[in-house]
Order: sequence, then C-alpha cells, then structure tokens
Amino acid sequence: MRFSFPLHARIFVGMITGAALGLICRQADLPAETLQFIIACLKPVGDIFLRMIFMMVIPLIFSALTLGVAELGDLRRIGRIGMKTLGYSILITGISVLIGITMVEIFRPGDGMSETDRTTLLQQYAGNYQKVKENVTVAQAQAPGDLITKIVPRNPLEDMVRAFDPTYTGGGLLAVMFLSVMMGIALSSADPDKTQTFRKFLEGLYEIVMKIIGYAMQLAPFGVAALLFQLTANLGYGVLLMILKYVILVLVALAIHQFGTYSLAVRFLGGMNPIFFFKNIREVMLTAFATSSSNASLPDAIRVTVEKLKIPREIANFVLTVGSTANQNGTALYEGITVLFLAQCFGVDLTLTQQITVVVMSVLAGIGTAGVPGGSLPLMVTVLMSVGIPGESITLIYGADRILDMSRTVLNVTGDITAAVVINRSEKATLAEP
Ligand code: ASP
Repeated sequence: MRFSFPLHARIFVGMITGAALGLICRQADLPAETLQFIIACLKPVGDIFLRMIFMMVIPLIFSALTLGVAELGDLRRIGRIGMKTLGYSILITGISVLIGITMVEIFRPGDGMSETDRTTLLQQYAGNYQKVKENVTVAQAQAPGDLITKIVPRNPLEDMVRAFDPTYTGGGLLAVMFLSVMMGIALSSADPDKTQTFRKFLEGLYEIVMKIIGYAMQLAPFGVAALLFQLTANLGYGVLLMILKYVILVLVALAIHQFGTYSLAVRFLGGMNPIFFFKNIREVMLTAFATSSSNASLPDAIRVTVEKLKIPREIANFVLTVGSTANQNGTALYEGITVLFLAQCFGVDLTLTQQITVVVMSVLAGIGTAGVPGGSLPLMVTVLMSVGIPGESITLIYGADRILDMSRTVLNVTGDITAAVVINRSEKATLAEP
C-alpha cells in the first residue's frame, strides 16, 4: 500500500513530535550527560538534512540566477510590457522588504533571548559568540567601496569554494551572484545559436538541483524533528515563545502587504476596486496556500485572472508566467525579516550598509527563488551569510517554516495578479493615447 500522507503534514508532525519530546526530556530532569548523548545521536539527522540544502546553494544560484536574469533580459525583446513587468516587480518587492524590516526593527522579536540561551544557541550553531561577532564585524569593517569592489570576483572559483568559510574576506556568495547576473545579461544578448547548448545545460542543472532539493525535503520531517528536539531540549519553552513572536510578526507583515500595499496598487495603479479584486481571486489564494507553490498555482491564477478579472489572455499569460518565478514579494519580505531576527537572536546589530545589503539581496533572492515549496531555503542561507550570520542558524526557524511558506506563497501569487492588473491598465492608457 502506498503511503500517501502529504509532505507538509509529515513535516508538521515531525515539528510537533520533536518539540514535544525535547520539552519532555528537559522537564524529566535527565542527567546532563544522558541528554547530551541523545542530542548527539540525533544531531546527524538534522545536519544531514541541512547539508543536503547547503550542497545545492552554489549550483542553484549559478543556474537559477543566470537563467532568471537571462529571461528578464529576454523581456526587452518582448518590449514595453516586459520592461513594465520588470519595473513593477522591483518596486513592489522593494516595498515588501521595507515593510518587513521596519516591523522587525520596531518589534525586535529576537531581543527577548536570555544571555544563557544565547550562549547555548551560539555554541550549537557557531562555536561561540566571539566567532559570530568577529564574522559580523569583518563584514561590517569593510568600507562600502571595498565591499562593492569585492563583489566583482577576481577568481570566481575561489569565491565558490570559500563561500561558506566565515573567515573569508572576499566577495563569497555575493561574488557568485554577481557572476551569475553578468552571465545572465550576456546570455540574453548573445547569439542564441551559439549559446543554446549552454542554456540547455543550465536548464538541466536547474532541474537536477530542484530534484535534489525535493529529495532533501523528503528528509525534512525527520530533520525538523531532530532540530526542534535539540532546540527545546536545550532551551525549553522560552525559545518556542520567541519563535512564535517571530512567526506572528511575519504573518502580520505579510497581511499588511497583502491587503494594504496590494489594495493601493490595484486601486491607484490598476484602476480596480480592491474588494472586487480580492473577492474574485479567493480561490487562487487558497490554492497557493494549500500547495505552497507559485508554479503549481499558475494555471489557476491564469484562469481566474482571465475569466473573473477580465484581463486579456496575452497579458495574463505573460505577466503571470514571468511573475511566478521572478516576482516573489512574500518570499523577499520573509527573508528580510528572518535575517534581522536571527541577527537579533545572536545579539548583533547590523549597520545601515548591511541592512541595505539585506534589502538588495532579498530582492535578488526573490528573482532567483523557485516557485516550489521551500524554494527560498538555499537563498535564505545566502542572504544570512552575506552579512556574517551563520547559515546553520536557519535551523532555529526552520521548524516553523511550513506555515510561513504557505502564507508567503499567497503573496507571491497575489503579487503576480496585481502586476497583471496594473500592466493591463497602463497598456489601455497607452493604447488610448493619440
Ligand atoms: N514556496 C514559495 C513559492 O512557491 C517559494 C518560497 O518562498 O519558498 O512561491
């Protein structure tokens, strides 16, 4: 008999089981050595899951960003509509990240951590406080000019090899991103006959990376259980409360963008009543929530946009297809909040330059994120490391990721539909001009 319990339900069960067992062990007052022994036995399970994701970061950035930028570059050929879609995407994604980081700076959910918990956490993920502090300081110490210079890799292979080395002072993942963006730009303007094989290679690589991330996700229920066990056995209820605060903050920020920014965009840029808009796209929002995937929601999104919102099929097809991979507002907002939250948990303050880096990287990550469940995870690691925060610390929030993934996907898909509405209006205005 085939086991058909859906993955998200299994992850959820893993999350609850891991957290509950951790709390029970902590309450049971086991001798410290026994507890540490159990944690040490479970650690490889969580670590292997994370390493599977880390393993895919470089191939993913290289294939997804190069292809993503090449596709955006191709938009130039499609002309006006393409350029408008690109401009709108960057603007609306930028706004979403700003909402996220403003909220996390105002409410500072990561500040509530006690010194002892913080030390345990740091030991778990980064060796010690000093080490994280040093890494962030190395990242901070760079003058903006220096940082910009290093983003242009002298030897991209070195940046790839040392991308996860916190003592490396080169461009690292940022440099790999730069290389990919340049290759994408060049690919979109080079002779297609000569570059077709390379493009196919990248498409193949991307497919394979996605498959492997899929395998890693099959391990997720066990990985999440092991990670949450370690967390609650070491830190108790306190950490769960803090994560709860973070989750609520992300959900509130997502809701502000979903119903605030999008209503304004639809009303003033798209000329459509927001109530009419949301009433008609309800079912797509539900599909996005249930599938956690912009790609899987695409057919439904196109149908509703054409049939219910009466947007011409050519515009809906084009804008929604491009948007489902390149316009991920919810993901970008979530990444901005998460980086600052984890920085707060580790007790480090990011400088203005670093916060700007986070905004830019989150917008780029929105372009590079695949529209599949958990697609943003590898890029999240990238954004974290670019400001000196250990990539492993993602385990702190990963247990709660599923619900956030479902919710941010709703924004990703709604954002694409608002783009279709806005572009349709501006096209009508253009056509009406004498
Ligand atoms: N699941 C998201 C989507 O498909 C991507 C992510 O943020 O992980 O839109």
